Amino acid sequence: MALPDRPFYVVLMGPPGAGKGTQSAILENEMGLKRVASGDLFRENLVKGTPMGVQAKSYMDRGELVPDDVTVGMIRERLTRSDCQKGAILDGFPRTLPQAYSLDRMLGMAGRRINIAISISVPDEVIMERMTGRRVCRAYGHVYHVIFNPSKDPQICDVDGSELYQRDDDKEDTVRNRLYVYYKQTAPLIGYYFAKGVLVEMDGNQPIEEVHGLLGQIMASQA
Ligand code: ADP
Ligand code: ADP
Repeated sequence: MALPDRPFYVVLMGPPGAGKGTQSAILENEMGLKRVASGDLFRENLVKGTPMGVQAKSYMDRGELVPDDVTVGMIRERLTRSDCQKGAILDGFPRTLPQAYSLDRMLGMAGRRINIAISISVPDEVIMERMTGRRVCRAYGHVYHVIFNPSKDPQICDVDGSELYQRDDDKEDTVRNRLYVYYKQTAPLIGYYFAKGVLVEMDGNQPIEEVHGLLGQIMASQA
């Protein structure tokens, strides 16, 4: 898939379990556009034991959002690194309207903008099934599902051989709260990006390959 000949920013939105991480990892490989995933960045900070990681954990464990100032600061720093000079695929950021405004401001100051915001929808009952079966690898966060996308060995990552584990926040009660938080705080972004003329909505309730094919068509239409 060809990368457009200008800085290009894609926002991937959707409830937890919509497939943002799975699809953004495939797109990153295909497009050579850096994937920036706020949840992964918080988890990396936690593993390193930084104050930000410790602060974020208390929110993540409850399925709540980390405060906007912390999150925006982290993303601002990440987007200014050299591997994001051509743009980025934003997975899980922004998740609130103030985050979206901040992102517009920081890109605008560099003469850049969000080119496309893709909202992936999946019914709630499918989300519960996906989240409780999700497994991720310790080393790089590669994502699997015990039924829908299993690794060859259920304990081990196919890509890097590290251990697979279930995230603490993928337990049923926390997932329900995360869904509630999504509808309350993140879903309003759909209207925001619609009004800006960059929204594409798509049905994520189909096999991984089919969602990927649709995303490929959407990207190609923007190039
Ligand atoms: P998922 O992949 O299921 O959508 P993430 O890995 O993106 O979940 O996020 C895990 C948790 O990290 C969230 O529940 C939230 O606590 C925190 N988080 C991630 N991104 C943001 C954000 N943009 N704003 C605030 N908190 C965030
Ligand atoms: P998100 O980043 O939006 O929270 P993930 O990409 O981590 O979502 O996917 C959540 C879970 O659902 C993972 O276990 C993943 O393997 C699985 N999954 C992702 N996309 C699909 C799909 N199209 N069909 C079935 N399962 C999927």
